[in-house]
Amino acid sequence: MNEQKPALLAQSIVELENWMIENGEAKYRAKQIFEQLHRGISPDDMSNIGKKLQEKLRASFHYHLPEVELKLVSAIDGTVKFLFALADGNCVESVVMKYEHGNTICISSQVGCRMGCKFCASTIGGRVRDLGPDELLGQVIAAQKEIGERISNIVMMGIGEPLDNYDNVIKFLHLVNCEAGLNIGYRHISLSTCGLVDRIKMLMEEDLPITLSISLHAPDDETRSAIMPINNRWGVAELLDTCRAYFAHTGRKISFEYTLIAGKNDSVENANKLAKVLNAHLRSRTETMPIHVNLIPVNEVAETGFKKSNKAAVAAFAKALEAKGIRATVRRKLGSDINASCGQLRRAAMKKD
Ligand code: SAH
Repeated sequence: MNEQKPALLAQSIVELENWMIENGEAKYRAKQIFEQLHRGISPDDMSNIGKKLQEKLRASFHYHLPEVELKLVSAIDGTVKFLFALADGNCVESVVMKYEHGNTICISSQVGCRMGCKFCASTIGGRVRDLGPDELLGQVIAAQKEIGERISNIVMMGIGEPLDNYDNVIKFLHLVNCEAGLNIGYRHISLSTCGLVDRIKMLMEEDLPITLSISLHAPDDETRSAIMPINNRWGVAELLDTCRAYFAHTGRKISFEYTLIAGKNDSVENANKLAKVLNAHLRSRTETMPIHVNLIPVNEVAETGFKKSNKAAVAAFAKALEAKGIRATVRRKLGSDINASCGQLRRAAMKKD
C-alpha cells in the first residue's frame, strides 16, 4: 500500500458521518461524498465540498481508483476485459459481459490465489495479497465509468478465492448494495468458491441473499483431490452437506461449476457418479433443492497441459446428468477473441515484465 491511511472508498456512510462529526464538519457531507465517490468522482474533483474539506480528507484517507492498464473489447460479443493497476502497482482483471438483462461484471478478489487448483492460471504464482473493500468496489466503479453504462450484476469469479478474503468481501457486499452508491441488489450478485466449508457456514449466517456458486469439478474425492488441493481439507460429501444446510437456511439455490478436462473428469461414468452424489446429498423425499450444473470445457492454460473435452464428450456428459434430473447447461464462451478467461491476462503481463 502507498500509505497507512485508511481507504476513503472503503468507508460506509455511517463511518463517514462519524468522521465528519469528529472533524467538525456537517454530517450531511458524508452522504454527499459517498454518492460521488461511488460514481467514480475523486474527492479533489468534488466541486460542492470546498478546498478545506478536500484537504482534510486527503490528510485522513488515501484515495485510489483502479487504473486501466489495458482494455480489450471483443469484436464478437462486446465483452470488455480490463487489466486494472492498483495503487501499489499490482494488477488484477475484471471482465464486463453484455447480456440482454444488463451488464455483468466479473471481478477479482485477490492478487493471485493460494488454492492451487491444477487447471487454473490465477494460482500459478500463488497469492500476493488480498484486495481491500475499496479495491473490490473500485473495479465496479472504474469499469462502469469506463463503459459509460450501468453495471447491474456482479459475479465474484475472477482472480482469487473470495472466501479466503472473507471480511473484505463482506464489507464490499454491503457497500455495493448501498442505495446511495451503486445500489446493486444481493440477488444480482454471485460468489464463486472452491469450497471453503468453514467460510460457507459463516456466509450462511450473514443472511445475504446472494447466489452461491460451488466449483465442484469432480464427483468423488479421488478425482477432486487430484485437481483441487482444497478437497484434502474438506471432501465432496462434507461440501455438499454444507451446501444443503446453506440452502435450507437461506432458501437460495446454489449452482455448481464443472470444468470438463479431457480424460480427467469428463467420462459418462463421471457424470453418472456426479448425478448420484448430488442427488444423495441435496435431495430427499421431503425437500428438493433445484440443482443446476454449469459445464465449462476447460480453458487451456499453457502451463497446466490440460486439454478440453471434445464436443461429443460434453454433450454426452450433459445428457447423462439430465437423465438423472440434474439441469445442465454448457457455458457460452464470451470474449473468446480477447482471452477473456480469468488470470491469463495478468500472467501475460507479468511475463512481459
Ligand atoms: N476461487 C473461486 C473463484 C475464481 S475461479 C472458485 O474457485 O470458484 C472462477 C471459476 O473458473 C471457478 O469455477 C474455477 O474453478 C474456474 N476455472 C479456473 N480455471 C479454469 C480454466 N482453466 N478453465 C475453466 N474454468 C476454470
